[in-house]
Amino acid sequence: MQFENNIEFARQLDKEDELNSFRKKFLFPEHKGKKVIYFCGNSLGLQPVNTREYVNQELSDWEKFGVEGHFQARHPWYPYHEFLRDNMAQVVGALPRETVVMNSLTANVHFMLVSFYKPDSKRYKIICEASAFPSDQYALQSQVKFHGCNPKDAIIELKPRDGEFTLRHEDILAAIENHKDSLALVFLGNPNYYTGQVFQMKEITEAAHRVGALAGFDLAHGAGNLDLHLHDWQVDFAVWCSYKYLNAGPGGVAGAFVHEKHCDNTDRVRFAGWWGNDPQTRFTMPHDFVPVKSADSWQLSNAPVLPMAALRASLEIFASAGMDRLVAKRKKLNNFLRYVINEAVTATGQQQNIIIITPANENERGAQVSMLCKKNGKKIFSYLTDNGVIADWREPEVLRMAAVPLYNSFEDIFSFGEYFKQALALHK
Ligand SMILES: *Cc1c(COP(=O)(O)O)cnc(C)c1O
Repeated sequence: MQFENNIEFARQLDKEDELNSFRKKFLFPEHKGKKVIYFCGNSLGLQPVNTREYVNQELSDWEKFGVEGHFQARHPWYPYHEFLRDNMAQVVGALPRETVVMNSLTANVHFMLVSFYKPDSKRYKIICEASAFPSDQYALQSQVKFHGCNPKDAIIELKPRDGEFTLRHEDILAAIENHKDSLALVFLGNPNYYTGQVFQMKEITEAAHRVGALAGFDLAHGAGNLDLHLHDWQVDFAVWCSYKYLNAGPGGVAGAFVHEKHCDNTDRVRFAGWWGNDPQTRFTMPHDFVPVKSADSWQLSNAPVLPMAALRASLEIFASAGMDRLVAKRKKLNNFLRYVINEAVTATGQQQNIIIITPANENERGAQVSMLCKKNGKKIFSYLTDNGVIADWREPEVLRMAAVPLYNSFEDIFSFGEYFKQALALHK
């Protein structure tokens, strides 16, 4: 599509956008009495208008029923996690029984690794990105040590080639092949939180399986953003949080996926808790753990209903928008965003200074654009903030922003472009 860099054009795209009305379902912070232009959905999604009502419903039921709320509440707390299952499964392309909402993200990384990283003297290596999110790196290192292995030997960190910013798909496949006899697991963040690069999960999973390893993914930046088909792609396990693209609020309850081929194997080792027991016998307090044959069997504790109420509000919005439509709009928004960035950079002659490191190929990126700002990046970022444009700054020199299909408009992007151009002109 041929874009134009003017407000009439941006407004026309908004008018033609069938998801346009979803913006009204979200609450925007204000800056100097005006709604901010918000591009931080990759970090903390905005609050849906409905969230308050969903959370208040549980507070009222608690007031009204006390302990009886477990069964008497309008949405009974005993099976509360089940109300999230279908919509969550839709978002990540899973069967309902392969999906569970529980814990926090890093906790889920650990619980999944307990089951899916079982090193022995021959197979003990994990392939991950060199620039993985720190929490994931710590989780991997500590799991490796927990098994008595040495992280320096066991963790294979993939780095971009010299002079490049992102990993080449063929280099990932080559690394899997190179370590084929000792590889236990491929574990990647998808997309990478820093560069916004999206990895080809289907092919990477196939490659891992070919050499006898497993494949798991951290979808903190993928859930609610990418077109995911975890079941069809035969991914072994995945984890994600709900406060980024999923808009479930700070520290919201996280998600996990376990492929059905693993759900049926009740012998697989896991750290168990009573909520993972078959609900039919849970309250007969059996002595021995009987895992329910679904991802639910990885649950430890009874449902944290208040954060789950917030997630329920948000997932209903996803269900009515539909991932297909969201993905289509996300692509268009982000193509426009990249166009507007390039216009501003060219107009101010800043091509040497501002470099988009997120891949240009539409299949290798999601809602995020990461820009390397070689000079004055922090000043450019501050100029945007002072003008009510909320993006995010990652040391040492990356400006990240995400154009999110549920609540960002094409006009947001045009307006950002004007401020960005001013910032670039001021800070050469
Ligand atoms: C956001 C993010 C986290 C955060 O972990 P929490 O346990 O939710 O604090 C972890 N990993 C990745 C890849 C992330 O993007």
